[in-house]
Parts: sequence; structure tokens; C-alpha cells
Amino acid sequence: MVSRVIPVDAFDLVIFGGTGDLARRKIFPGLYRRYLAGQMTAESRIIGAARAELTDIAFREMIAAAIDEFVPKERIDAATVAGFLERISYVPIDAKGDSGWAPLRAKMRPSIVRAFYFSVAPSLFGDLAERLHAHDIADKSSRIVVEKPFGRDLASAKALNSTLADHFREDQIYRIDHYLGKETVQNLMAVRFANILFEPLWKSEYIDHVQITVSETVDVEGRGAYYDKSGAMRDMVQNHMMQLLCLIAMEPPYHFDPNAVRDEKLKVIRALETVPSENIVRGQYLAGGGDGSYLEHSENPASKTESYIALKVNIANWRWKGTPFYLRTGKKLRARASEIAITFKAPPHSIFDDVQGARENVLVIRLQPNEGMNLIVMIKEPGPGGMRLMQVPLDMAFADALGEHSEDIPDAYERLIMDVIRGNQTLFMRGDEVEAAWAWADPVISGWEARGDKPQGYDPGSSGPEDALMLMHRDGRRWREIKG
Ligand code: NAD
Repeated sequence: MVSRVIPVDAFDLVIFGGTGDLARRKIFPGLYRRYLAGQMTAESRIIGAARAELTDIAFREMIAAAIDEFVPKERIDAATVAGFLERISYVPIDAKGDSGWAPLRAKMRPSIVRAFYFSVAPSLFGDLAERLHAHDIADKSSRIVVEKPFGRDLASAKALNSTLADHFREDQIYRIDHYLGKETVQNLMAVRFANILFEPLWKSEYIDHVQITVSETVDVEGRGAYYDKSGAMRDMVQNHMMQLLCLIAMEPPYHFDPNAVRDEKLKVIRALETVPSENIVRGQYLAGGGDGSYLEHSENPASKTESYIALKVNIANWRWKGTPFYLRTGKKLRARASEIAITFKAPPHSIFDDVQGARENVLVIRLQPNEGMNLIVMIKEPGPGGMRLMQVPLDMAFADALGEHSEDIPDAYERLIMDVIRGNQTLFMRGDEVEAAWAWADPVISGWEARGDKPQGYDPGSSGPEDALMLMHRDGRRWREIKG
């Protein structure tokens, strides 16, 4: 059963970029759901801030339309929507200008949690941070939330960290990675550290390999020119997939405490080996089914940016020596699915010598669709016919386990925003973690750039380039089938 919703302290939350896509699709609908659930109380206020000259009324209409579009109908209650909208106002502000700041300051209430969500391009982070201080709006307990991308290499991430550090302490900065807000991802920590069952086996002695898959069916969705400067490695691997890898690979922290957890994740990133070229496969989707190719979408016919990447990653520490982590992510693939699969080794000695059947246990953690966990175990095939083994899944979908309350599970953004208000940084990336992840990614990227490697074409709707299959086959392993 879902536990009781505990309301958070009253807050003043300013959403810079309040008219943008992310605010409309995720931030405001998420806040509405928390209001509906009783977690955001009536004393709280949300202030949208962006360049457009809008009145409060016009902005509320925009938010009402966003709720209508992005919240399921059965969760929309007219009186609750009206109550939520009353808590919202708007201030036109140009991050690079000086107007609008005085009215914003006038809206801030004393002795109330202040949070500022920078849902704008990272190039504006410095301007916002500076003006929040210059106009005496941020105080020493204020929090800022910053969106991805956090840099595009180590140098730019360092510069961004240093700009923010000019105005805010590390414990005031919440670098959001919405993957960390997913129920299943946090469950990964519960499974590992609240059960005795897995931890003794959680090492290379017993784990053959780990697969992390983030598979998308969409293309670059009209953002081709932007995506072309990034690619799958920067867009997915350096941040989201790296965070998943850390949660699987880290040592048990001494306490479920923000810095204890992040210290352990950092050690994992620092222990990652540089990935040699033979352990990297990059791909670009081809045209097909009436849809254009990556090269057409990126508006760059000579682009060498990858819309797919598969990597074999080794962690050089005692726990993981000899257990590879295989990561793959891409666009225009067969199914939309994200999962982590931990494949255990076969028992050291089989007493069932002449018995057919696979012998591995696999723990699958599904992030989407249908968040849940699946433990694949061996049993005897039922019925007569002697001793034959078969794999069966002990499947738990969270939606089934939670029954009628499953709708109450907050989505990643909702949970993370509430964590900001509570002042809990456990699920946010620390500056040194982000820098360490870039320090690992940079030589991998510069390596293929220096070699002039071209990504391999793959058919839309497939499971990726042929060479990605070989990456596994040559190790005597295979990717799990991607099922949406
Ligand atoms: P967007 O272009 O839709 O919106 C940008 C917002 O910033 C608008 O409200 C605009 O008015 C405001 N803005 C632009 N220049 C400004 C200025 N000088 N002063 C004040 N406000 C200004 O962008 P988005 O998709 O909402 O993305 C916002 C941020 O979130 C970006 O950093 C993006 O990388 C990140 N992000 C977005 C998504 C997504 O799904 N949209 C996902 C992950 C991360």
C-alpha cells in the first residue's frame, strides 16, 4: 500500500522558463498532482517567470491548458484545479536584463522555503544566479534546481559549476536527473540495501554481467539540429545511464544520506576504465517506413553524431573486476523500454548434467513501461517426463502490487521537486559526480572524433546496428530482447 502523503513545508517556488515546454509538460502538471494529493499545501505559491509579457490571468490559462493536456482526465478535478491556479502568478523577466526583479522580490515571503527552478538554457544559469543575488532575492537557505544538459564536456561542466558556486553553496544546488526520481530506480537501492538476499551475491564472483538498456522509438523529434551537437553518449550515457550504473555498482553507503550515497557513486565513476574503441558501437538510424533518416533530421548530411550507442564498460575495483556492464541506448528502435538486467552466473556445479535448459538467474529492473521487477529463477518443468528445467519469472509490476493506489505514485519530476522543498539532495547529482562522469566520457568521445569514426546505419524499428550484436556475441553473451 502507498504510505500516507506527508505535506511539505510551505514554499515560494519560482519557475524560470515557466512558459517553456518542460514547465508545461512536466513541472506544472507534476505540481498540480502534488497539490491534488495534499502534499503541496494551500500556503505555497508558484511564480512563473519568463520573457513573455503575460498577465497572471493569461499565465494561469496557459497552465490550465497544460494540466488539461498532460494530466489524465480522471485526475482532473475542477475545484482542485481552480485552487491550484490561485497559488500561481507570473512575472515577466529577462534573465539578461534588470527589469522584473523588483516585482519578483516583492512576491517573496519571509521565513518560507525559497526555491528557484532554472528551466531555461544552461547559458542563462549564470545570469539568473547573479541577478537573484544582486536583487537580494535568494537568501542563504534558498535552493536552485538546474536542468540538463550540465555541460557538454569536462571543461564546460567545470565552468558551469564554478559560475553557480560564485553565488550558491553546493548544498543549495539541485542538479536534476529525472531518472533518479523514478520509483524503480529508488527501489534498486531498497532491493540492494534492505534485503539480505542479494548483497552477498552482488559481485563479480556471482554476477556474470549487467545490461542497461534505454530504448526509444521516437526520432530526434524536431530537435535534430540541437541533438546533433550532443548525440546519445552526451544525451543519455554520461548522465542517466551513468547514474543507473552507479546505483548498481556502488558500495553500501553507511547511511541513506545525501553525501554518503553520492560519495559511493563518485567512487564508482572514478573506477571506470576508459573504453577502448573495440568496445564501442555507434549507430545512426536510416530512413524507413516513410520517415526520414537521422542525416535528414539533423539537417547535417555529413553528421557523424550517433543516435545509438552500445558500450562495454569495465569497473576497475575489487567488487566488479571481470564483470562487464553493457550499456545501450538509441532512438528509432523497435520498442520503448528501459531496463537493467543483472545476469547471475550458473551454479558452480550442476547436479542436473543431462538436463536441458538455461541455468542463469536474472534480476530485471524495469523502468518503463510498467515499472517493476522480475526475478528469473529455474524450476522443474511441471508434469511427468522426468527432470527438465525451465526459467520462470517472479514478476512484480508495481502497479499490481500497489493496486488502486498505483496512480498515487509520484512521477519523477514531482518527487524530485518535493525533495527540493524538503532539502533532500540524495537523488540529485553533486558537482564532483558530474565532473567525474565527464572526465570518463571525454576521452571516449575525443577518441572517436580523432579517429573520424562513422556511425553504422541501422533500420528504424530494429534493435540497433549489427555490430552491437557482435559486441555481445564475441563474449558469448547476448542482449535481452527489447519488449515494449
Ligand atoms: P523551451 O525553449 O521550451 O523554454 C525555454 C524557456 O526559457 C521559455 O519559457 C522562455 O521564455 C525562457 N527564456 C528563454 N530566454 C530567456 C531569457 N533571456 N530570460 C528569461 N527567460 C527566458 O525549453 P524547455 O524544453 O522547456 O527546456 C528548458 C530547460 O530544460 C533546458 O535547459 C532543457 O535542456 C532542459 N530540459 C528540457 C526537457 C524537455 O523535455 N523539454 C527535458 C530535459 C531537460
